[in-house]
Amino acid sequence: MSRIVAKFGGTSVANLEKIEHAADKVAKEAGAGHEIAVVVSAMAGVTNQLVDYCRGISPVHDAREYDAVVSSGEQVTAGLMAIALQKRGIQARSWMGWQVPLLCDDVHGKARIEDIRTDEFEKRLRTGEVAVLAGFQGISTCNRIATLGRGGSDTTAVALAAAVGADRCDIYTDVDGVYTTDPRIVPQARKIPRISYEEMLELASLGAKVLQTRSVEMAMKHKVNLQVLSTFAEEVGSDLPGTIVMDEDKIMEKEVVNGIAYSRDEAKITLRSVADIPGVASKVFTPLAKANVNVDMIVQNVSQDDGATDMTFTVPRGDLNAAVDVLKKECTDTVHEIVTNTDVAKVSIVGIGMRSHAGVAQNMFQALADKGVNIQVISTSEIKISVLIAEEYLELAVRSLHRAFGLDDPQKA
Ligand code: ASP
Ligand code: MG
Repeated sequence: MSRIVAKFGGTSVANLEKIEHAADKVAKEAGAGHEIAVVVSAMAGVTNQLVDYCRGISPVHDAREYDAVVSSGEQVTAGLMAIALQKRGIQARSWMGWQVPLLCDDVHGKARIEDIRTDEFEKRLRTGEVAVLAGFQGISTCNRIATLGRGGSDTTAVALAAAVGADRCDIYTDVDGVYTTDPRIVPQARKIPRISYEEMLELASLGAKVLQTRSVEMAMKHKVNLQVLSTFAEEVGSDLPGTIVMDEDKIMEKEVVNGIAYSRDEAKITLRSVADIPGVASKVFTPLAKANVNVDMIVQNVSQDDGATDMTFTVPRGDLNAAVDVLKKECTDTVHEIVTNTDVAKVSIVGIGMRSHAGVAQNMFQALADKGVNIQVISTSEIKISVLIAEEYLELAVRSLHRAFGLDDPQKA
């Protein structure tokens, strides 16, 4: 017997038929003798609608009331799931975040979970009752409903799995796992059977939208066995059909490159001729950080004789105007000329095997050079290399890299 947390995302509970289908999966797992806690998202589209309602009344609104409104979607699906399970002869009960309780800080709209008190919850699990928890919500230090940021039901599921010591946390979604890259760009992309937390964390933060980044961080910290799998396929989680996200020590064969991610949500800012003296970078990046602009790749080119240098960095496209405003206002003595470009995209290769392999960057650059793709900015971590290129070459770059690193090869599947 295992203890399993099964999370169903919005597309998996998009209508009554789908909720019933999800309930069939839960019933099958419960029938096999497992203890099951279910975490549900709101029905697809509902949270967006609720967010729009708040904005419709007032573009600027109280975050606590926003939470009262947007958390309601999950309440509906939790109740409906419990009813669907009861109809199948399964003892089931819904739980809201405050009933567990799932305690959060008071950053309404993107609260962090601080503690989950699961005594009563676990007592019920042990009696064979299926507990259905509304995802995305908890209770803040000021005793009000708080939500965990968009996509936060993943984090609810992982946090719950850690708190109740679950053997596995299954994330049911509309894809059957994590892919080597976006199959819409590379039809040969294949499902990755096993991936390390660190690789998944890179892929999630690079824009692979299958898991909320925070949920992967939490899974890594608490070593929660996570599985991403399709709600629409025949199998249930215990058949292990999806992608398992796990500790890298348990992965025998460490791929040099396991996945290729990309993001179009990039804008490039170049500051021309800034003084090449100590303290300039901090003068530029401190006000940006204070304005919550998330700076990603940074390069500073070789100093010229005149003691000036060009500094280039990237920000999310939506933050470009805010970033330029901040620089113009707060860096009058350091920044004189700002050049921006939104016709850029980032492509990244990710793999833990990179740590022990030389020449990976060289392969990447060669593959891009062969296609005539110019690299504008490079950034690396231990297990990732990212390049910034012109957006028009994005698909070509992803396809070439997928091939260059042997990921097209069906043998590996
Ligand atoms: N319903 C919330 C959202 O759409 C939380 C989630 O589904 O993870 O962001
Ligand atoms: Mg999601």
